[in-house]
Amino acid sequence: MAVMKFSVLVLMVLPVSLTAQGAEVLQEHEHGTGILKVTVSGPEFTLSLAAPGVDIVGFEGPAATDDDRSLVAGAISDLSRPLELFLVPENGGCHTVSANVALVDGAPEQGGEASDDGSDGAASHTEFQAEYLIHCQDIQAVDEVQFAYFDRFPNARTLRVHIQSSGAENLFDVVRETPMANLAGML
Ligand SMILES: [Zn+2]
Repeated sequence: MAVMKFSVLVLMVLPVSLTAQGAEVLQEHEHGTGILKVTVSGPEFTLSLAAPGVDIVGFEGPAATDDDRSLVAGAISDLSRPLELFLVPENGGCHTVSANVALVDGAPEQGGEASDDGSDGAASHTEFQAEYLIHCQDIQAVDEVQFAYFDRFPNARTLRVHIQSSGAENLFDVVRETPMANLAGML
């Protein structure tokens, strides 16, 4: 029993350091478009999601009101359950081993770079970043994904998916209008 408690403690401590490192860098992002990287390793895969704040909660920058803060809290809570956002076939027997979600602030842009969404160029962007580890009993059964993500986050329009598996790479976009992907042969 003591051993189990210890391993739970490790899982809960680890995300803090990952979050702190991730917060150092915020890449440019395109509102409406998130990035989902999938790396397959044997019976497990990692999911790495980066999504603009506007996609997830409808705004970027600091949460200014209680409503904003509750939107962020609700989003982080839902983002911490990846298999409810990215639905895989049940016979894959997949479960979430770990889920780390962070809201990352971007530094204010220097030099007033033109913004394509009409917002103040000096305003900081924010991004939700999440890292997941998923373990499956039969990963070969994971031949498709339904992106409930788009139902949960109505401002999200596209996910740019990058799958890496035993040397092979697959890149494709999943869009709100067709929220599914056929993974046959990719994992
Ligand atoms: Zn932004």
